[in-house]
Amino acid sequence: MGYNVAIDGPAGAGKSTIAKRVSKEMGFLYVDTGAMYRALAVHFLQCGLKPEDTEGIKEACKNAEVTLQYEDGVQQVYLNGVNVTGLLRTEEVSRMASVSSAIPEIRTHLLKLQRDMAEKYNVLMDGRDIGTHILPNADVKIYLTASVETRAKRRYLEYQEKGIACDLEEIERDIAERDFRDMNRETAPLKQAKDAHLVDSSDMTIDEVVETIKAFCKK
Ligand code: C5P
Repeated sequence: MGYNVAIDGPAGAGKSTIAKRVSKEMGFLYVDTGAMYRALAVHFLQCGLKPEDTEGIKEACKNAEVTLQYEDGVQQVYLNGVNVTGLLRTEEVSRMASVSSAIPEIRTHLLKLQRDMAEKYNVLMDGRDIGTHILPNADVKIYLTASVETRAKRRYLEYQEKGIACDLEEIERDIAERDFRDMNRETAPLKQAKDAHLVDSSDMTIDEVVETIKAFCKK
């Protein structure tokens, strides 16, 4: 078994930014499980499916193989042998991933890949159910969160920097909706594991969050 760090938390809490830095500085492999759900979402969209078509999604899932590779330490996600990493961060994919990840069969489809990675390597794995469900015996568990307003504002600034037109209120609504789906689904809902350290980043800088988490990860 590798040394396992689990980071869970809601959308936009800064998990991936923080996870990338901590894993680089501490020599862990960063496993972004959201990207796996997003890769499946790309497959469902390529099949012409709508997020509401649960039966179609379950069927299409049987023909989707998600694998990971690392290039210069950066995770690359492959869907049926094709690198789809560049296709994962659109609103359409976000929505499909958020809805389809509530289906138990979709979660089961990715479980083995996630556990295998943790078995083989020292990983920092982020997601929604890593500490509660995927790696219940992780060496360190973190629940990273921030207020809805803070998370929406961060996402808004990110879009603005990239020159993407957006509306703050709409982003806030979208984040609240995604939180609701993640926290209220029946299978592996998002919640803080009993033995997880709570880190609320609302009033913290990225450096402060990184140092706080690194301190928990001292072997
Ligand atoms: O973290 P990210 O936003 O990339 O995740 C995409 C979607 O996948 C989320 O909306 C969430 O619902 C789902 N997800 C999940 N379990 C995980 C990781 C992500 O349900 N472990």
